[in-house]
Amino acid sequence: MMRILIIYTGGTIGMVNDANSGVLRPLDFSQILENVPELNRLKYEITVHSFQPIIDSSNMNPDVWVKLAEKIEEHYTEYEGFVILHGSDTMAFTASALSFMLEGLGKPVVLTGSQLPIGQVRTDAKENLITALEIASAKQNGKAKVPEVCIYFDSKLFRGNRAFKYNSAKFEAFRSPNYPVLAEAGVHLRFNEANIRKCDDCIFRVHKRLNNSIAVLKLYPGISEAAITAIVNSDVKAIIMETFGAGNTTTDEWFLNCLRKAIKKGKIILDISQCKVGIVELGRYETSRELKAMGVVSGYDMTYEAAVTKLMFLLGRGLTDDRLAQLLETDLRGELSKTSSLSWSKSVF
Ligand code: ASP
Repeated sequence: MMRILIIYTGGTIGMVNDANSGVLRPLDFSQILENVPELNRLKYEITVHSFQPIIDSSNMNPDVWVKLAEKIEEHYTEYEGFVILHGSDTMAFTASALSFMLEGLGKPVVLTGSQLPIGQVRTDAKENLITALEIASAKQNGKAKVPEVCIYFDSKLFRGNRAFKYNSAKFEAFRSPNYPVLAEAGVHLRFNEANIRKCDDCIFRVHKRLNNSIAVLKLYPGISEAAITAIVNSDVKAIIMETFGAGNTTTDEWFLNCLRKAIKKGKIILDISQCKVGIVELGRYETSRELKAMGVVSGYDMTYEAAVTKLMFLLGRGLTDDRLAQLLETDLRGELSKTSSLSWSKSVF
């Protein structure tokens, strides 16, 4: 009998309308069980651990990520897989953070949730939960089929650090345009084995130190020097700069000087694109040649969520600046590709 641990953090899946105000608020796991009697018919031994307090995922933070990682570490050998029930708003951040914190993962950690509460008639929660359990328990030759931190939502399984929430109105809430889906659920559950990370001799190790000394600079035409300097000179170690197209910025000298000074003072500037599909190619255009020359770090095709959490993870490791920059540009958990090898027909956007 497969043993699966469900970790319940909150999110719409377990919410109910407050009788007085009408707003949706999270409720305990018992009503999820009441609404999915099918769980009792599954051939798994399911244990549920509820976090306290149960939260809307907009209240998620790195302390909870550490608690999640600790919970998985504590029970790693007891269970075949883990399902984390989580609000969809910040699910991609949690999945990305866990992908970095759980090194050498040999078992599935599947995050799921829903757009409609489990108690509502048209809910998407039941299918999401039941298929997530199926994925968490899927094995081949005694090994987990998906030894990754992933997100299952609306029939698709995504690599956690490649996905982001792009739609708050449709059941299809997530996309992963720079990496193909890991599995699709229809009449059959089809795994895209070539795209799933292998874990043959991996040694499981949990990293629990995260450092949030980061800020984000989102560029737009006409951004003022005051706005740039406020962020670049803020008291943080690293800045994620969301640039145009393939990693381009204005070539105004005042702007480039601000960045140069910040880098000289020891700040890390990580370039990711505002485009959701494609890759940062520093030096491809004149508008990024100087960035490369001054030491801006390329985020390649990382999602914003992966960039934020990878920085928190690497800053928490107390590395030298050179090593930090080098690892930011290195594929650690399948979060980035350096060349656009994506077959566009396979892209799900
Ligand atoms: N606000 C909710 C949350 O992220 C939305 C959801 O669960 O889909 O917790």
